[in-house]
Amino acid sequence: LPQASPALCPCAPGLMHYHQVQRALRALTIPLERLHIMKGHMMQAMRRGLGRHTHSQATLKMLPTYICATPDGTEKGDFLVVELCQSQVRTLLVTLFGDGNLSPQMRHKTFDMPEDIMQGEGEALFDFIAQCLSQFLADTNSSLDHLPLGFVFPFSCRQTELKKAELISWSKGFSCRDVEGKDVVQLLQSAINKQELSHVEVVALMNDTVGTMMTCSTEGRPCEVALVADKGSNCCFMAEAHLVETAEETSGRMCINTEWGRFGDDGILSDILTTYDECVDEESSSPGEKRFEKMVGSLYLGEIARHVLFSLATEKALLTGSSVDVLREKGVLTTHQVLEIINNEEGMALTKRALEALGLQPNELDCSRVQQICRAVVSRAATLYATGLAAVLSYMCQSRDMDQLLVNVGVDGELYQGHTRFEEILQSVTKLLAPECVATLLPSRDGSGRGAAMVTAVAVRLEAQRREVAELLAPLRLKHEDLVQVQALMRQEMELGLNQETHANASVRMLPTYVCHTPDGTELGEFLALDLGGTNFRVLVVHVTKDGIRMASEIYAIPTAIMQGTGEALFDHIIDCIMDFQEKQDLMTHTLPLGFTFSFPCQQVGLDKALLLTWTKGFSASGCVGKDVVQLLREAAERKHHAGLKVVALVNDTVGTMMSCGYEDPKCEIGLIVGTGTNACYMEEMRNVGTVEGDEGRMCINMEWGAFGDNGCLDHIFTSFDRVVDDQTINPGKQRFEKLISGMYLGEIVRHILLAMADKELLFHGNPSPKLYTKDIFKTKFLSTIELNGLALRQIRQILQDLELNASFEDSVLMREVCHTVSMRAAQLCAAGMAAVVEKMRENRGLDKLSVTVGVDGTLYKLHPNFSHCLQKTLRDLAPNCIVSFMPSEDGSGKGAALVAAVACRATGP
Ligand code: ADP
Ligand code: MG
Repeated sequence: LPQASPALCPCAPGLMHYHQVQRALRALTIPLERLHIMKGHMMQAMRRGLGRHTHSQATLKMLPTYICATPDGTEKGDFLVVELCQSQVRTLLVTLFGDGNLSPQMRHKTFDMPEDIMQGEGEALFDFIAQCLSQFLADTNSSLDHLPLGFVFPFSCRQTELKKAELISWSKGFSCRDVEGKDVVQLLQSAINKQELSHVEVVALMNDTVGTMMTCSTEGRPCEVALVADKGSNCCFMAEAHLVETAEETSGRMCINTEWGRFGDDGILSDILTTYDECVDEESSSPGEKRFEKMVGSLYLGEIARHVLFSLATEKALLTGSSVDVLREKGVLTTHQVLEIINNEEGMALTKRALEALGLQPNELDCSRVQQICRAVVSRAATLYATGLAAVLSYMCQSRDMDQLLVNVGVDGELYQGHTRFEEILQSVTKLLAPECVATLLPSRDGSGRGAAMVTAVAVRLEAQRREVAELLAPLRLKHEDLVQVQALMRQEMELGLNQETHANASVRMLPTYVCHTPDGTELGEFLALDLGGTNFRVLVVHVTKDGIRMASEIYAIPTAIMQGTGEALFDHIIDCIMDFQEKQDLMTHTLPLGFTFSFPCQQVGLDKALLLTWTKGFSASGCVGKDVVQLLREAAERKHHAGLKVVALVNDTVGTMMSCGYEDPKCEIGLIVGTGTNACYMEEMRNVGTVEGDEGRMCINMEWGAFGDNGCLDHIFTSFDRVVDDQTINPGKQRFEKLISGMYLGEIVRHILLAMADKELLFHGNPSPKLYTKDIFKTKFLSTIELNGLALRQIRQILQDLELNASFEDSVLMREVCHTVSMRAAQLCAAGMAAVVEKMRENRGLDKLSVTVGVDGTLYKLHPNFSHCLQKTLRDLAPNCIVSFMPSEDGSGKGAALVAAVACRATGP
C-alpha cells in the first residue's frame, strides 16, 4: 500500500494507524525469495570461511574444533567435565555404560568464582579451576587411576588439536593476565598437576555449542548439527574434513563452529535490516558487529520490539494516550516479556500488564497491535534461524554428494525450549528452504556439560581405536631405512642376475633382450605388431613416418579353450587373426616386418629367438614351455600357408613401453609396468651383461623384477597379510615383489586387512558381510575410488553397497586409511626398485648426475590417484643424484613392438 501522509489522509484515524502498523510489520517480514537469496549468501560465506585463501577475510570464521566423530553409543567409562562460565565453574562427573548412552550417571557441582579472579593473574584462574576439581573429586569419592577430562571454554580460540588451543582474546568480562596467546589446555593441566591430580588428563577442549550437538544422537542417526538459540546465536555441524582447508586433517569429518553471529558484518544483510535493527545496533556495545546475531539473539529481541513500539508511538500510531519517553530507555522491554506476550493464552492480559508496568496506558487495540509486533519480531528471528539452518543442511547435502540428507539437529537455548511458535516456524521454513534435507529437530538434553563428556568419551574411544589400528598397520608402514635396504637388496640381486656364474640363482633374472638401441627418430616404414599377454590380444599396423606414428589396430578374443588347449591351436588362432586383420586393412599382398610383444618371461637368445620360461596370467597352452616362441609362430604361418610373414623381433611389454616413449624422448632408457603385474627394463652396459658375449655398447635388460624376493631376501618385509595373499595364489612363493605392488594383488591385501580389523571389532562393528570373505571381490580399482578425496563419495557408497558392507562413516574413513597404506607401500617399494636401477645406470656411466626418463604403462600407475606421485617423491628421496622423469606411454606395447622392428631394420637395413 502507498504510504499516506497523515495530513492528507481522508480516512479515519484508526485506519491510518492501521497502515502505519502494517508498514512496520511488513518491514519485519522477509519474503521467501529474499530468504532464498540470503541462504545462498550464507552458503557462500561458509565456503569462504573454510577456504585457505579466503578464510582471513571471511565473516563466518568457521572454526575447526578437531572433533571428528559423534558418539556411537559404545562409549563407556568415567569422564570428568569442567566448564568455565560467566561467574562460575561447573564440574561434572559422567559415567557412560556403553548402552547407547541412554542412561548416563551424572554428578555435578557448581562453584562461584570470586570476582577478582576474572581480572587477575591467569595462573590464579587455572589454580582456582583445579581446586574446584579437587574438591569435587574429594566429594564424589572418586578413586580412579585415570580420569579423562573435557574442558568447556567458551572463548575464541585458535585450536590446532582437540587438546591444543591458544586463547585469541578474552571476552564476557574476563581479562586474566598472561593467558592470551597461550595453550589453555596446558595451563589447566599444569594447574591440575599442582593439585596432585595427575590421574586427571585433559583430553579435549571445546566450545559450548559443540556440546549441544553431542547430546542429540539417536539410534542409527547421528546428530550432526547443533543450533544455539540463546542470548547469542551460533551453529556447528560436521563438515567434510577435506573441505576444511584451515585444518590439516583431510579425511573424515570435523565439527565446525560456524560463529555465524557475525554473518552480515560485511553488509550483505543491508536489504533486510530495518531502521529498528539499526537503532539496536547503534545502542549496542559493538556497533557494526554481529549483525545476524542482533536480529535473532534473545539479548536483542526485546530491544527490537521496543524500538518498533517507540517509533510507532512517536508517529502517534500507538499508545496515544500516554507519554512514551519510558520506551527510550534501553532494556525496559525484555525478550522474556516478548516471548510471554506471544506465547501465552492470556497474551492480551500479559501485554496490558507489561505496558502498564512501564507507566503506559494501553487500550485494547494497542495491546493487540503490540502483540502483533512481538509476534513479528520473534517470527522473523525464527525465519532467519531457519534460513541459516537450511544453508548448513544444503551445504552438507551438497558436499556429501547426496540426493537426500537425513540428519538430527540438536537445538538449545531459551528461544527454542518450550516456545512452540518459534519451533514451528523454524521447522516449516527450514523444510521450505532446504527441501532435499530431512532434519529432525531435537531439544538438547542436559546442555553442554553432558555433551562435553560425550566429546571426551568419543576422543578416548577414538584414541584407543587409533592405537590398535596403528599397531595393526605398523608392519605395512615402511620407514626410510627399510626402503634404503630394499634398494640395496635389489641392487645386489641385479648384480647376481647379470653375472654369468650367479645368474641361475638370482631372484631377479635380468634377461637380455637383444634390443641394443632406443629409437633415434630416423626410423621409417610400415610394420605389423602383435600384443599378447596383456588384458587383450591385439593386431596392429604401425606406420612410422617423418611426421610421427599412425596406427590401426583390432582386438581379438582368445577363447579360454584356446588359451588352455594346445600350443598349435593357440598359434594357429593367432595367424588367423593376423590374416583377418590384413584382409580388413587391405595388406594381404604386403610383406611387413613384424614385432611381437609377448609379455611372458622368456629366455631370449636373439632379438627374434626367445624360449618361453613359463606361462602366467591364465595361459597354459601345451607344448610351448622351453620352445622358441617366434619359431612356433613361424610354424603356424607355414601350416596356414601364410608366406608373407617376417617376424623380426620379440619383445617384452616393458621393452615395448621403453621404445615407444623413447621415440618421443631420447632420454627414455627405462621401461616400467605397473598393471596386472609389475616389471621393469633398462639399458645396461654390455660389459656388465655376463650372460651375453661382447663388451661394446648397451643392451636392454628385462629385469623380471616381479620375482625379486623369491629367494627369501625380502622375507622381513612381508606381513601376515602378504603371506595369506601369496598362499592363495596359483603360484605361492613366486613373484613375491609383484605381489606387494601390482593390481592383481593390492585389492586382496586390503581385503585381508579389513577382515582382520573386523575381527578385532575395529570395523563394521565386528560384522563384515559374507561377501567380503570372497577371494578377489575387493578390486584394486576400488583403492583408486576410495583414496580419491571427496569427489568420489557417491562411488564409495556404491562400492560399500556392492560388497554388502554396512559401513559407518568412520568405517569408510578407516577403509580409506587401509587402502592408502597398502597403495603407498606399493609405490614406495616400486620406487626402491627404481632407485636401484637409476643409481646403477648413473654409476655405469660415471656421472655425478643422471638425467633419465622412464616410460611407464599399466592401469594402476595411470589411474590410481596417489601412486605415481608417491613413487616419484620416494624416488627423489632414495636417488637424490638422479633426475628422473616419468612418461606415461600411449599404447606402448603395440607401438613399441613396431619400433623394435624398425630399429632392428634400421640397424640391418630393411
Ligand atoms: P595389463 O597389465 O594386463 O596389461 P593393465 O595395465 O590395464 O593391464 O592393468 C590391469 C590391472 O589394473 C587390473 O588388474 C586392475 O587390478 C588394475 N586396475 C584397473 N583399474 C584400475 C584403477 N582404476 N585403479 C587402479 N588399478 C586399476
Ligand atoms: Mg599391459
